[in-house]
Amino acid sequence: MADERKKCAHAACDCPADEGSKYCSAYCEGKGQTTTIDCDCGCPSCGSNI
Ligand SMILES: [Zn+2]
Ligand SMILES: [Zn+2]
Repeated sequence: MADERKKCAHAACDCPADEGSKYCSAYCEGKGQTTTIDCDCGCPSCGSNI
């Protein structure tokens, strides 16, 4: 097992958070306080409703 990464604080986001940050991206940081169903941060694991 590698080092344990903190998950993004965005409720709908499953990405690992950046080191020193609670969120994986600026998008999640802006949306982090809002409870949304989908994450649209652009990560492949998020919001890939293609
Ligand atoms: Zn995400
Ligand atoms: Zn995120």
